[in-house]
Amino acid sequence: MYNGDIMALRCPIVSVLGHVDHGKTSLLDRIRTTRVTTREAGGITQHIGASEIPIGTIKKVSKDLLNIFKADLSIPGILVIDTPGHEAFTSLRKRGGALADIAILVVDINEGFKPQTIEAINILKQCKTPFVVAANKLDKISGWNSINGPFITNFNEQKQHPNALTEFEIKLYENVIAPLNELGFEADVFSRVKDTTKTINVIPVSAMTGEGIPDLLIIIAGLAQKFLEQKLGLNVEGYAKGTVLEIKEEKGLGKTIDAIIYDGIAKAGDYIVIGNPDGVITSKVKALLKPKALDEMMDPRDKFKPSKQIVAATGVKISAPDLDMVIAGSPLRIVSKSEIESAKEEIVQEIEDFEITLDDEGIIIKADTMGSLEALATELRKKNVKIKKAEVGEINKKDVIEATSYAMSNPYNGAIIAFNTKVLNDAKVEIEKNDVKLFEDKIIYKLVEDYEDWIKEMEEALK
Ligand code: GDP
Repeated sequence: MYNGDIMALRCPIVSVLGHVDHGKTSLLDRIRTTRVTTREAGGITQHIGASEIPIGTIKKVSKDLLNIFKADLSIPGILVIDTPGHEAFTSLRKRGGALADIAILVVDINEGFKPQTIEAINILKQCKTPFVVAANKLDKISGWNSINGPFITNFNEQKQHPNALTEFEIKLYENVIAPLNELGFEADVFSRVKDTTKTINVIPVSAMTGEGIPDLLIIIAGLAQKFLEQKLGLNVEGYAKGTVLEIKEEKGLGKTIDAIIYDGIAKAGDYIVIGNPDGVITSKVKALLKPKALDEMMDPRDKFKPSKQIVAATGVKISAPDLDMVIAGSPLRIVSKSEIESAKEEIVQEIEDFEITLDDEGIIIKADTMGSLEALATELRKKNVKIKKAEVGEINKKDVIEATSYAMSNPYNGAIIAFNTKVLNDAKVEIEKNDVKLFEDKIIYKLVEDYEDWIKEMEEALK
């Protein structure tokens, strides 16, 4: 049973987004290897699907920068989701928005904004997720002098004299700050943080050399602390609430769920309630598992250790029977027996939030998770695209047969849009035989664009 007296602050959950190859994975790796080389070394705590950087570690690595913040940092640390990209971000949802409290948008300072950068910003705007921009690959700028640091003290002044600008300053302005301004954000390098909610902090970093990483960490901690002060709920309260990250088969355990718990406390022996498009799944928790540290591993196959209790925010592997129908991105609760019914009600409501209103006629859309399906539907709705069927899952033969029949009444409806999901072989065979157009991609923006191009082509052809 949950002990109501415990009222701890939880770690803010942080997600990394950005265009392909701009350095999301490298940046995450760099953050995950943040170490303090003192005797009382603070390290990183590995969770399932996430890494926790304790506030002590952040304070130590960022000690020169601490004076930027007048406020004390009382959060326990930050929890960074290990899977980068907007697919993970959109899958990890909770009622009323994104699971991540804060996002890091990675932009290659040499390349600037790309389609996925803009797509990520749209998703962040939609979810009202505050973010910082990591202007990455600083080391690639010729003549970059790390001794002077990535601080620009009089940028606006220098802008009046273009000849005095360094290559770094020009790139930062043209590739990062100006595009952010165009999208309606006030943006600034962090040394001149303004206290307006629309100001985006831009932090020049190099995932390769590690430069700027302490700055990035302390800015995120500061941003999270600001939320705390605005009482935006970083308290740990009640039973565990979370989202399914992945379903994984584990040797000796069978099907397990990797989940991120964003609120509350769970105990081994509690019950698990999970939402599914077809209903609610209830099961009894066999074990709440955490990864073993390397020195605890007697046998490399023996990777997990059970916990009696887990506290948000955390990543956990859950072993329980009857998990076959669980899908990624589903809402989840871990509750005592007496709380099962109220948790079920809560989950049903949450699933309803995800439901997409369908049109009498239109196309078929499919995606890997409920969150990504909703994100795809939202983008298509903006372009007035009608949707007849929206489902989580792979493209199968039935989908193609249905699309074929939709096309008969209106050729524009003979399309299937597949976001981040597989097309089964029998569906491929069926597509060959029929007049159905399939759009497949991992980028929503690209799918919408390709669909619009196809419509234009059809209009030309039908003239
Ligand atoms: P992702 O697709 O956004 O996850 O990007 P990756 O992290 O895989 O990085 C793409 C490429 O850029 C890789 O070859 C990295 O080694 C390289 N890269 C990432 N960060 C940096 C950086 O700070 N400096 C330099 N020079 N290269 C980087």
